[in-house]
Amino acid sequence: MTFAWDQPAPERKAKPSAFGLMPKDFELLGCPGRPEHVFSQLQRQWLWIDNHPFLSKEVRNWLEIHTDLSLPIVTQIFNSEDGSSKCILKLVDGEHIEVVHMPREVRTSRVTLCISSQVGCAMGCTFCATGAMGIKRNLESGEIVTQVSLLMKTLGPKAPDHLTLVFMGMGEPLHNLDHVHKAIHILSNPLGLNISSKRITVSTSGLVSGIERLAEMTPRPLLAISLNATTDEMRSASMPINRVYNLSRLRQALDRWVLKPNEKLTFEYVLMSGINDNYEDAKRLCEWLGDLRHRHNVNLIPMNEHEASDQKQPTDESLQSFSRNLRDLGCFVTVRKSRGRDIQAACGQLIRNL
Ligand code: SF4
Repeated sequence: MTFAWDQPAPERKAKPSAFGLMPKDFELLGCPGRPEHVFSQLQRQWLWIDNHPFLSKEVRNWLEIHTDLSLPIVTQIFNSEDGSSKCILKLVDGEHIEVVHMPREVRTSRVTLCISSQVGCAMGCTFCATGAMGIKRNLESGEIVTQVSLLMKTLGPKAPDHLTLVFMGMGEPLHNLDHVHKAIHILSNPLGLNISSKRITVSTSGLVSGIERLAEMTPRPLLAISLNATTDEMRSASMPINRVYNLSRLRQALDRWVLKPNEKLTFEYVLMSGINDNYEDAKRLCEWLGDLRHRHNVNLIPMNEHEASDQKQPTDESLQSFSRNLRDLGCFVTVRKSRGRDIQAACGQLIRNL
């Protein structure tokens, strides 16, 4: 049996985006300016200061010829009652992606951005609206980076150190690992936005080959696993990736993810009414975690109902009881308040809906 993620996703056909290049790339490509300066100006100033006074005409001409300086355009913003916003970005080839901007609820200027890694997704999880789209193409590293700078410019925060990034938007980030990792490298570069990799989380459906590669990479972001089921039968029914990398194989890969001091793995568990919310599920989940039990956080996410899935949201009672059972069994649990549900921006609801 072959799956869509066995193949690399299609790539954008264009010159490399200037915003997806590292200082060493400018050097290798023969850019006339000092590479660190060009990088820093593009990452920190380009969107904010008109006419780019700190880059020479020669460098600007070189950039025009050898790189792609086009930026996505914010075409629509949907504001939720809860303060979060979903932005539709139009990419240079006319494709659309979505980014969700979630200010913290307490009085602070901290913001979490939920960013996309692909146009559509190849993984086909049955509870996810993006999965129903299929895969169109990978985002290039510059398109990932500019989601962050554009959203900062449009909705804030002003200071990048008030940002937390989660790759939980459209796409499986580990199916586009090269571009995603390069984007993380750029975003965390002290000459750029300097967002610590400790504030960047990559969430995967369990693409073990990608987890094993990412484990060896520097900088290494935090890892979240979208788990959602506690038996192979159940997991394979909603997440086709499990037919290739089952729960035991996934657990082996996590054993090789060497946790740094204070680092925790996050397990996202979308709670679906009558499917994965009983006591036996809680028990199996704790057993499966085994000795990871002290270095993890289980993030319970009530199912967001949408047209592409017939799975149902759990009642508040069953959510509370599942969470209590997990805690009693020794797990660390948080319940994620679904943000942006009224604007189709909550987990599993992102889809190109234009
Ligand atoms: S849940 Fe994530 S990996 Fe699964 S189809 Fe949706 S976007 Fe893709």
